Amino acid sequence: MTSERAQLIEEAMRTGTLAGLPGGHFINGRFVDAVSGRRMESFDPGNGKPFATVAAGNAEDIDRAVAAARAALSGPWSRLNPAARGEILMRASRLIAERSARFAVVETLDSGKRLSEAEGDVAGVVRAFAYYAGAADKLYGDSMPLGSDHIGLTIEEPVGVAAQIVPWNYPLSTAARGIAPALAAGCTLVVKPAEQTPLTTLMLAELLQEAGLPEGVLNVVSGTGAEAGSALVAHPGIDHITFTGSVATGQRVMRAAAEHVTRLVLELGGKSPVVVLGDCDLDAAVDGVLEAIFENAGQICSAGSRLIVEQTIAERLLDRLVGRAELLRPGHGLGEAGIGPINSPAQLSRVAAHVERARAAGNRILTGGGIVPPEDCGGGWFYRPTIVLARGADDPLVQEEIFGPVLTVQIVPDFEAAVTAANATSFALVAGIYTRDHAKAWRFARAVDAGQVYINEFFAGGVAMPFGGNRKSGFGRAKGMAGLRSYCKLKSVVARI
Ligand code: NAD
Repeated sequence: MTSERAQLIEEAMRTGTLAGLPGGHFINGRFVDAVSGRRMESFDPGNGKPFATVAAGNAEDIDRAVAAARAALSGPWSRLNPAARGEILMRASRLIAERSARFAVVETLDSGKRLSEAEGDVAGVVRAFAYYAGAADKLYGDSMPLGSDHIGLTIEEPVGVAAQIVPWNYPLSTAARGIAPALAAGCTLVVKPAEQTPLTTLMLAELLQEAGLPEGVLNVVSGTGAEAGSALVAHPGIDHITFTGSVATGQRVMRAAAEHVTRLVLELGGKSPVVVLGDCDLDAAVDGVLEAIFENAGQICSAGSRLIVEQTIAERLLDRLVGRAELLRPGHGLGEAGIGPINSPAQLSRVAAHVERARAAGNRILTGGGIVPPEDCGGGWFYRPTIVLARGADDPLVQEEIFGPVLTVQIVPDFEAAVTAANATSFALVAGIYTRDHAKAWRFARAVDAGQVYINEFFAGGVAMPFGGNRKSGFGRAKGMAGLRSYCKLKSVVARI
C-alpha cells in the first residue's frame, strides 16, 4: 500500500471526510457558489453520515455554465489543432494517474463502492483520457468517388456545447467517458453529476484546467435533477445531450430535447442475462456470475442480474453461488468488505421493496433477502447479497431492473430456450454466455438483442469497445471511436473542379 493511499484512508476513517474537497460549481475555470447561495450535503453510504457539502445549482447556475461553454466554443479552444487537444488530454491522463489514490478514496466516500473497485474505475479513467488523447487527431472523414469533375469529402466537426447528465453508480467513469471524447472532438461541455455523487467530477474539472484546458471549456454544475438537470436538458444553448440514468428520466429528457431538436444519446437501464450452459467451465462461470451481480453491490446498468441456467447444471451452479454469496461480508468501502453499501436510503428501500413483493408472491429466496440492520454495519445502507428463483417469464423479478445485489434465476431446458429467455424483456443492454461450445457462443452472440455480448468473461473489454443499449436500454454509443463520433457532426463538401 502506498503511504499516500494509507494516509488518505486513515484520514477518512478518523475524521469522516478529507480536507480540501471541492465545494462549488466549476464554471469558467474556477469554483463558484450557487447564485442562490444554497448548498447541499453529500453522504458516505458506508456510514450514512454527511461528509461534504457542495453548491446546490438551479436554472440560473445552468445559464451561467452554458454561457461560459458557448463563449469558450469560439475562444482559444477553437483554434487549437487536434494534436494540441490530444496533448491536453494526455497530460490529464498522467495527472489523474498521479492522483489516483485521492480520486479513488473520494469516489468510495461519495458512492460507497469498495476501494478496490474505485481504484479500478480510476485506472479506467486514466486509460480513457489516454485513448481519446490518441484519437483526437485521427478523426478522419471520407472521400467519395463522384467522377472526374468533382471531389466529394466529409468532415467531422465538433457538435458544439455538449451536456452530460451523470448517475451516481459510476460517477467518475461515466463523466470521463463523455468528457474525454467530447474534448477530443473539440466540443465544450456542461456536466451535471448526480446529486448523490458530485465530488470526483468537480475534482476532474479542476485537474483538466491544470492540464491546460482553456477557461469555460468544461463546466460542472452540481444540483438535483429536478432543479439543475431539467434546466440543462431544456436549455436552448445546448447542442447535444448525453444522458445516463433511468428509463423514466430518460423519457423526460427525450421530451425536453424535442423542444429544441437537440441531439441525444440515451444510456439507460438493463436486466441483462448471463446464460450458463451445461458444458461450461464451472469455476469460471461461478466467478463470472458473482461478479456480474455483486460488483458495486449490483448498482450497475450492465449488471448480469438474470442468471439463465441450463437444467443439467442448475443445482451444482446454484449450490456454489449460494455458498459464495453467503461469504460476502457487507462493510464500508474503505475497509475489507466483500460487498459495499447501497448508495442512498431511497435506493435501499427500492431494492427491499422488489424483494418483499417477490417474497409475498411466493418466489423462493435461496439466500439473502433483507436489509442489513444499520447497527450491524456502522450505520451504513446495506442489502444482503440475494439470489431468488423466478416464477416465470412474466415475473417482475425477470422484467424489472432492481439496481441492487439481487440475482434472479431462470432455469431452462436447453440452449434454444436460453436464447428465447435472454431476449424476453424490454431491455437490451448487455448479455453474457458461459460455454465451451464456441459455435453456440457465437450463435448466441448473433441471436441476442444487446449492445454488447460477453463470451466466457462478463464485463470484458474496456474503453476501446463501444458501449450502449437497444430498446429501453437506450440508443447511441459511448466509448470507442463510436463514442467519439457521438460528439461530431458530419459535413459533406463537394467541389466542382
Ligand atoms: P436517474 O434517472 O434518477 O438520475 C440520473 C441523473 O439524471 C442524475 O444526475 C439526476 O440528477 C438526473 N435527473 C433526474 N431528473 C432529471 C430531469 N428531469 N432532467 C434531467 N436530469 C435529471 O437515475 P439514477 O437512479 O441516478 O441511476 C440509476 C439508473 O441509471 C439505472 O436505471 C441504471 O441502469 C442507469 N444507468 C445506465 C448506464 C448506462 O450506461 N446504460 C450507466 C449507469 C446507470
